[in-house]
Amino acid sequence: VDVWEVFSYAWPDDLGEPFRGQRVHVPFGPGNRDEHGFVVEPEGTRPKGIELKPVSKAVDREPQIGSGVFKLAEWISDYYMTPLGMVLQACVPSPAGKHADRKEAVVYLEEDGEGARNRIGPRQKAILDELFEARLQGIEPVALGMLLRKSGAQRASFNSLVSRGLVRTEMRDVKIQPLDRGRGVVDAPFELNPEQQAVLGEINQKVDLGTYSATLLHGVTGSGKTEVYVRAIRRINGKGRGVILLAPEIALATQTFKRLLSRLGRVAVLHSGLSPTERAYYWEQIRRGNADVVVGPRSAIFAPVPNLGLIVIDEEHESSYKQGTVPRYHGRDVAVKRASLEDVPILLGTATPSMESINNARSGRYGLLELPHRVRGLPMPSLKIVHLRREMQSGKVELLGRTLTSKMAAALDRNEQVILLMNRRGYASYVFCPSCKWMLECRHCSMPMVWHRSLTLATCHHCGNTAELPDYCPACEGRILLFGYGIQRIEDELFRKFPNATFARMDSDTMTSPVQFKKVIDDFGDGNIDILLGTQMVAKGLDFPNVSLVGVVSADTCLSINDFRASERTFQLIVQVAGRAGRDRTPGEVIVQTLYGDDPAIRHAATHDYRGFAEMELRDRRETGLPPFSRMARFVIRHSRMEKAEEAAETFTAELRRHLPPDRVTVIGPQQAELPRIKDRFRFHVMLICPVPGLIQQCLLPHLPEIQRSVPADIVTDIDPLDLM
Ligand code: ADP
Ligand code: ZN
Ligand code: ZN
Repeated sequence: VDVWEVFSYAWPDDLGEPFRGQRVHVPFGPGNRDEHGFVVEPEGTRPKGIELKPVSKAVDREPQIGSGVFKLAEWISDYYMTPLGMVLQACVPSPAGKHADRKEAVVYLEEDGEGARNRIGPRQKAILDELFEARLQGIEPVALGMLLRKSGAQRASFNSLVSRGLVRTEMRDVKIQPLDRGRGVVDAPFELNPEQQAVLGEINQKVDLGTYSATLLHGVTGSGKTEVYVRAIRRINGKGRGVILLAPEIALATQTFKRLLSRLGRVAVLHSGLSPTERAYYWEQIRRGNADVVVGPRSAIFAPVPNLGLIVIDEEHESSYKQGTVPRYHGRDVAVKRASLEDVPILLGTATPSMESINNARSGRYGLLELPHRVRGLPMPSLKIVHLRREMQSGKVELLGRTLTSKMAAALDRNEQVILLMNRRGYASYVFCPSCKWMLECRHCSMPMVWHRSLTLATCHHCGNTAELPDYCPACEGRILLFGYGIQRIEDELFRKFPNATFARMDSDTMTSPVQFKKVIDDFGDGNIDILLGTQMVAKGLDFPNVSLVGVVSADTCLSINDFRASERTFQLIVQVAGRAGRDRTPGEVIVQTLYGDDPAIRHAATHDYRGFAEMELRDRRETGLPPFSRMARFVIRHSRMEKAEEAAETFTAELRRHLPPDRVTVIGPQQAELPRIKDRFRFHVMLICPVPGLIQQCLLPHLPEIQRSVPADIVTDIDPLDLM
């Protein structure tokens, strides 16, 4: 249950002075259950005539949450409509033991463990779920202490998993890169080019002013943005102030961390893949003001940097900045808020600004700086769009078309390397006749329909129309195929077409730990792998000089689930992956395959026309009243029984409507969510759209706790949702 209220307790004298944000243990409820909590008002007054229970234990001796971050947490709590306690919990790492241990137990998921998740008790399942999640995020192994805490399981449940061979433990040395280990302030072997210098000059002005300003740095891939960050950071460090640099993912944060280690003074890193001891070490160093830069994914925005001077967000457009669990904050937006609360400048860098950020730049809320060219006069890679269906031989389903196949062969002949990207919606299946190339299309939208195994129906992602699977092709009476774009299918084709080439697959199934990720990256970098095949993982930030060809196996946006950001994501993905080609002397070429027509997002990406794309996309969004021209809130109502979920969704929506002005807030739904059932719970959702920022919160926040309590179902609140499934 969400606890929204603040409770009063007596403070025993022997605990020292209380402070705001301090973690404590308190007796709670009629049975005086031991619960943890945070001090919110240390100066609170004793309510008259009520006997207060005393706080039983103080966890922190010194403040872990500075006043800036505390204010930030209060803002998050209001804006994202999340209880303050849950926000504060996300702001501090769980307390580590007093003594830094030299060794710690870590846990791996065994091969059988994954499949066994449905055949064991709930506590054990919670452990396996945590491990599986860690694997997906590439942060396996997990420290045993952290695993037990996160899953809420007892040691005994864990031990029985070990004896059943579902998990495995290992002792490992706790290794910490001391903060002063960086080689210190080292110069790059090159001068900034004039464009970089101009941009840096502008940034330095803001840095010197030292007050809040937000600046969007739109620099094409390979334009030397990181180099600009490094110099701005040094300038701020020279003034004795610290910097937070956010990267969208742990893997990229780690890469940036290493790069900064060789160029800057005391670099700290913070993320959930660190062991508790490591994390506590960095945290403490940061808190004492011993770190010049803190690098990390979104949660690093809560780093207790005492004298913050600048925030940098790299790849600001990335959707992984949005947290998928409570509190569902957007790291970028929270970062901008922290910068404004602490009155320091913030810099948002990307090759493909989000519609939100470019709109802010256009309206003057953000400054805009541009690096339109690559460094060292390198050309942008050339992109070519290929219509896959036209290239198919009849009777055959092939995912690598004629053009892409021959370009690959040529690149491999020249001893150059290839990256193949599979789009995120790559697992959709289409209903297809390989003999005459007929495809099942929606009667209302002329868009291909997507086969849903769970519904045993094909559906149109544009209008929701459904269709049965035909027995034979209606055009030629040939055999119908379900044409799935699985990444494994591409592997089969690679084996067949390039028997002598070596390749590696990089997706969340194969990349189960940072070690594996690093191995593939290193092997590819050393030239031991010719073809790197992967999901959007391969699109981000990698820098390999010998890659001359990038193939986008399927770029189709029209097939993506009912999501108004599909075009934006497709544009970003193509530009980002194209950015991996031709980063050195080898000129880069990009082949973009599409199955279906002439998508404007793909066309703009092919000509590197960000401006044209943004123009079109913003116009569409304005006309349809979608973000960034409005704000959205989404509520997901979940229950283990279908009727209960539906009923609760109706009640909940009716309650919401009572508090919302109908002329300003559009209510969509409730309706069944795109993913109607997850983990045995049925899901309905309701969406709110409102042109006035903050109005939804203003109307709902005072009533939400009560509404939630009155509805007998589990309710997820998501403000500015990115995931609409
Ligand atoms: P971005 O972050 O914009 O993709 P990077 O900062 O990673 O670009 O720069 C790409 C590469 O170019 C890096 O290897 C970097 O060291 C190098 N580089 C950056 N600026 C210059 C410059 N002015 N002259 C030569 N090389 C540079
Ligand atoms: Zn349709
Ligand atoms: Zn046919």
